[in-house]
Amino acid sequence: MKKIIVAIDGHSSCGKSTMAKDLAREVGYVYIDTGAMYRAVTLFAMQHDLFAPDGSVLAEQLEQLMPQVQVSFKLDPETNLPLTQLNGTTVESEIRGMAVSSHVSAIAALPFVRRAMTEQQQRMGSEKGIVMDGRDIGTVVFPQAELKIFVTASARVRAQRRYDELTAKGQTVNFDEILKNVEERDYIDSHRAVAPLRQSPDALLLDNSDLTIAEQKEWLMEQFKARTASAPL
Ligand code: C5P
Repeated sequence: MKKIIVAIDGHSSCGKSTMAKDLAREVGYVYIDTGAMYRAVTLFAMQHDLFAPDGSVLAEQLEQLMPQVQVSFKLDPETNLPLTQLNGTTVESEIRGMAVSSHVSAIAALPFVRRAMTEQQQRMGSEKGIVMDGRDIGTVVFPQAELKIFVTASARVRAQRRYDELTAKGQTVNFDEILKNVEERDYIDSHRAVAPLRQSPDALLLDNSDLTIAEQKEWLMEQFKARTASAPL
């Protein structure tokens, strides 16, 4: 069957990666979490003390060090899911914590960081057969993607999901802090000058506030089947 590119964009913590991962597994595509790539660059910047006390980034220093930042994915042999690597070290759990979450939007707004990540993402998708989730996949990285989805849910629902996820991992977290982080990231991601978060005109909108994971999975599968059946050879 003809392979396509599936671009899943949307707000923070709205279950994009869960649906992207499930679809990729089901149809035998590669799954790429582009948020993890920006998170890994953020961790690198934190490790090199490249944040000023006010949260702004020492951008010139980071730009000089960018050639030393290698982000990649290695499949976990047990779960078959990708583990994010920063310069060859697995950083999967470090990049998911609140410290990285509260600094990542500033890193993701830097044009030279976006350029480097976008080029890498385009190489990863050059053979198609890929499900990529992020903020600008359908608008900037793969404007030609055959299937584009824009996912959203209310900020409270998303904060609750993130709270449940972190609590399940044993982290002690505060709901109000998470909600504030979700709202702040929405604002920065939608208002930045380069590749702001917005729905591509040809993307299908999915508000999953009231959908279960199973329902959303079924919906996505239907869209995938319809699009692969109609994709030109
Ligand atoms: O998807 P996730 O919440 O892990 O993404 C973390 C952050 O990375 C987002 O808040 C956004 O600032 C940035 N990001 C981006 N472009 C992407 C993916 C993520 O700017 N394609």
